[in-house]
Amino acid sequence: MQPKDVLEPMDTKDVKAREKRDLRSLSKKELSELLVELGQPAFRAKQIESWIWEKGVSSFDDMTNLPKSLRVALAQTCTLGGVHVIACQRSTDGSRKYLLEFEDHTSVECVGMPSGQRLTVCASTQAGCGMGCAFCATGSAGLTRSLTAGEIFDQVAHVRDDFGCRVTGVVMMGQGEPFANYDATLAALRKLNSPTGMGIGARHLTVSTCGIIPMITRFSKEPEQFTLAVSLHSAVQRTRDALMPGVKRYSLLRLYDAMGEYAQRTGRRPTYEYALIRGVNDSDEELTYLCDFCRDTLCHVNIIQLNEVPGSKFQPATPRRANEFVRRLASVGVEATIRQSRGADIDAACGQLKQRLA
Ligand code: SAH
Ligand code: SF4
Repeated sequence: MQPKDVLEPMDTKDVKAREKRDLRSLSKKELSELLVELGQPAFRAKQIESWIWEKGVSSFDDMTNLPKSLRVALAQTCTLGGVHVIACQRSTDGSRKYLLEFEDHTSVECVGMPSGQRLTVCASTQAGCGMGCAFCATGSAGLTRSLTAGEIFDQVAHVRDDFGCRVTGVVMMGQGEPFANYDATLAALRKLNSPTGMGIGARHLTVSTCGIIPMITRFSKEPEQFTLAVSLHSAVQRTRDALMPGVKRYSLLRLYDAMGEYAQRTGRRPTYEYALIRGVNDSDEELTYLCDFCRDTLCHVNIIQLNEVPGSKFQPATPRRANEFVRRLASVGVEATIRQSRGADIDAACGQLKQRLA
């Protein structure tokens, strides 16, 4: 028997499956082109967008106002994404952390955090991360791949459906570096913001970056009022280089200038995230440098309790030290708060649930 004869049908099927595109990752233009190819009128694009973003259907058959022939043609050429829950942990504080799997079996984490009438989602923009921050569980595992806009949106949709209520805010603070996946992140933010998506106000959509400067500049030119957070973790170059080797090439001096331009251009107040690590970035000298970096600039500092990563040498600083940081920053006119840690009992640091199940 010729092995080729046996293999051929399977190969063809595989290629076909790979060629199918996630309908939600198509731009408006690509969707219109696809509809032209399928001989459909332009208004179908609006109908399809409403099904995939507003109503969140998981099957082409549910798109009941499309002709049957179009539903069949779409099913043959496209997929609708969708997620599969591998694990869910519930915290005593009401937060829920999910490990979600996509069609190709890549998995990411996301968290839903309810508070009164609000529901905030912490979403991932990549599976893994290539930036290699020394204190981060995701960083230690490296990058698997970037997510599509649809996959980022799907995490939020999943949390909305699981809690059965409206999502009021999203922070891109799960796994991955959003600015290493800029286009998909922006497309997802726009869908989350759009009235035909989830209708979440732009100010309640936050991107957190480790500090990729060209993308901070690009972000500052986007028309929407999205919120920016920058992971600083030290205002001393050698400490930051050791903690965050992936952004070594972007010096603190350049970051300082880029953030100044950002504030000037947008008039918006960015947040600096600073996870206090005992004996690493919690000294008086580090605090002085942090005060100097922030003084007289438009910013807010979030002092974060370090989440302990199993096997890591880093330990959180004491709560007393965190209070001292906030007081000293306030004394030089810098607004600072201690970020309340959510889901401390559910492996809440990004990458931890995934690592535990690996
Ligand atoms: N890559 C982006 C966004 C994802 S990480 C960034 O780095 O900003 C989201 C936040 O979690 C960042 O501020 C990151 O520094 C922080 N973080 C990572 N590991 C942590 C840990 N073990 N404890 C506390 N914060 C952590
Ligand atoms: Fe990546 Fe952010 Fe983790 Fe650094 S902290 S490794 S940039 S996810």
